[in-house]
Amino acid sequence: MEASIAVIKGDGIGPEIVDEAVKVLKAVEKKYGHEFHFEALLAGGAAIDQVGECLPEVTVEKAKKSDAVLLGAVGGPKWDTLEGSKRPEKALLGLRKSLNLYCNMRPAVIYDALLSASPLKDSITKGGIDVLVIRELTGGIYFGEKKRQGESAYDVMSYSKDEIRRISIKAFEAARKRKKKVTSVDKANVLETSRLWRETVNEVASSYPDVTLNHLYVDNASMQLVINPSQFDVILTENMFGDILSDEASMITGSIGLLPSASLSDGKKGMYEPIHGSAPDIAGMNIANPLATILSAAMMLRYSLNLDKEAEDVDKAVKAVLDKGFRTKDIAKEGESWISTSEMGSLVEGEIL
Ligand code: NAD
Repeated sequence: MEASIAVIKGDGIGPEIVDEAVKVLKAVEKKYGHEFHFEALLAGGAAIDQVGECLPEVTVEKAKKSDAVLLGAVGGPKWDTLEGSKRPEKALLGLRKSLNLYCNMRPAVIYDALLSASPLKDSITKGGIDVLVIRELTGGIYFGEKKRQGESAYDVMSYSKDEIRRISIKAFEAARKRKKKVTSVDKANVLETSRLWRETVNEVASSYPDVTLNHLYVDNASMQLVINPSQFDVILTENMFGDILSDEASMITGSIGLLPSASLSDGKKGMYEPIHGSAPDIAGMNIANPLATILSAAMMLRYSLNLDKEAEDVDKAVKAVLDKGFRTKDIAKEGESWISTSEMGSLVEGEIL
């Protein structure tokens, strides 16, 4: 197949980790006979330095025309003195908005080889953890009317059936590619938006008889994530609950350099990026962990390009490299030897070819 992939390296470690993900995508391209057209686009601090703004119009236009966007990370101390609206991180919000990325997906996986990195007890993680948190990203309380009146303030939480339906469909579709279980998280015992949420999720579920659905209140879900995380496959939830639960799910894996993410729009278009930032403290040193970005590229293959087998190949290659004991500095135990960013990328590439 042919696909156009917009590549935004960004700042800090962005260029180093994206180069490794592109290396891996090129290995997939070669092995399976695909044709990927990569186009480098500017955003973030790099764009401010070169063209004076964090999100040039041409980047938005070309990102919109591509099948998917692969992003490193943006931001860094060099631009920290700029006022809020001019800072590199604004580029992310601009991209999410112009591409209408309403569905955020964050998998949290604990690899057998890295079980000890989890802050949870072995007795809890030994069942294996492979959770995909699907968070509604453009509605809810973060986007509702907000006001301060003297000594009081309010934020309005509102959802329409359409908003709930489209994110639910993403969750059920994703579950079909996984273990076929959706846990919808809400607060339907208290919130009217949650009652509409639950009703709508149930309606969507009727079109997916092959997927099991259960509902949990958000307070219970946050407890279950730390006492019995292996019960989860796909967690579907609204914006604010998802913000909190996706961070909680990430942290139980214990390794920020390994966590990818996807933000999807209608159809297949999406933006893929590691959950970590630009790590300016280690930029340019060839020691950053590229695996989160490589795994983000695997999500791109799965969700935007519909290349499930190829995505699985990349996931397996990462697992194989970890099983063989290779570590970047961030995931190496004290005294353990470690390899560079580019060596890690090449090892994953080698497993694929
Ligand atoms: P960060 O995620 O960049 O770094 C936190 C810590 O984790 C640092 O010690 C860093 O060295 C380490 N780390 C992060 N990614 C790593 C990797 N792949 N391999 C090894 N170690 C890694 O968070 P921060 O320090 O709070 O933010 C730094 C900059 O990144 C800021 O300008 C922030 O605004 C920006 N940021 C960007 C994004 C994004 O582009 N999506 C997200 C978060 C933060």
